[in-house]
Amino acid sequence: MRSAVLAGAVLLGASSPALSAACSNPANFPEWLQDFKQQAVAQGVSPDTVSMSLQGVSYDPATIAKDRGMGVFAQSFLQFSDRMVAGYRLQQGAGLIKKNSGLFKKIEQQFGVPGPVLVAFWGLETDFGKFMGKMETLRSLATLAFDCRRPEKFTAELVDALRVVERGDLSPEEMRGPAHGEVGQFQFQPSVYYQYAVDFDGDGRRDMIRSTADALASAANYLKGIGWQAGQPWLEEVVVPNDMDWSQADVTIKKPRSYWAQSGVTYRSGEPVPADETPTGLVLPMGRNGPAFLAYPNFDVYTEWNHSLVYCTTAGYFATRLAGAPALSRGRGDVQPLPAAQAKQVQQLLAKRGYDVGKIDGVIGAATRSAIREMQIKYGLPADGYPTVELLSALRGRE
Ligand code: CA
Repeated sequence: MRSAVLAGAVLLGASSPALSAACSNPANFPEWLQDFKQQAVAQGVSPDTVSMSLQGVSYDPATIAKDRGMGVFAQSFLQFSDRMVAGYRLQQGAGLIKKNSGLFKKIEQQFGVPGPVLVAFWGLETDFGKFMGKMETLRSLATLAFDCRRPEKFTAELVDALRVVERGDLSPEEMRGPAHGEVGQFQFQPSVYYQYAVDFDGDGRRDMIRSTADALASAANYLKGIGWQAGQPWLEEVVVPNDMDWSQADVTIKKPRSYWAQSGVTYRSGEPVPADETPTGLVLPMGRNGPAFLAYPNFDVYTEWNHSLVYCTTAGYFATRLAGAPALSRGRGDVQPLPAAQAKQVQQLLAKRGYDVGKIDGVIGAATRSAIREMQIKYGLPADGYPTVELLSALRGRE
């Protein structure tokens, strides 16, 4: 996915021969759409649904402009969580849990996912159903399916969107959202909608736009489907010692909880972390001096929902607050996140040394974190995978 995006960005350069490809000229869209309609029918969507849904659908330059200018996740964890988990959303979230307590109880009984977890995603995705996006979903999907960069992914999404229409869940007119075809109060991609949406209010339609019961139960069904374990924690705030083996602190590394207990990790209260076998990762979204969390197997469901660690940690933390946890400690000091331009330099210098850091966009993903860690070990810096000014000057000094 990531390399496909990068390749697309490179192809936008003016002299690329790919510019002559059929998919880069919007004049070819109508012909492409005819082909797509046949393909959808061949995949089992009825001819009536296909022609009714795609009647008059045209290429949408606004979708492409939004896609190419897509804002990347360059905010730090504290910047994002301070903004998203603030007084207003906490109060709204708590109010909604109270107001719908019967519904949340029913959902937890059936799917095992507690209300606070659902409400946190709900708040981050659409401000609890208030902002679902206004672009015509089928038109956006058709435009991205026609476009040169990720045609397979969006062709499949468009077919699934037609299946959602065919099943009677939503009409083509109702399907509106952001530029990438996400739909409803939890911004499901059509493939996820088709597979996981449920009718929980019993009216016969899976309506994640207008039915709060359907939306919440569908989100719970999806979380269960991708591995949520009932009654288990997802994220817990902890305090880390001044010194430990930072190289093990990553969301992708799971250790028995006893490992962290022995390393000196405690709860905020000073209580020790249980020294048992529960598989647990240590997440330091802003490095060893910032906030710290133990991430449980249920947290893997978050990273499946969204690939940004900042998003996932914020959603998980928000849910703990709604479930009664206190406001987080900001860690040992004022952690200054590297500005995006310098984070890009770190990525460039790592790429020059042969590391695959994905797209050079200033957003530190798993691949960049792991390369940073290796360089930190090499330079004798604390290997927490978090980019700092010290790391940047070490990388620069040894070019
Ligand atoms: Ca329904």
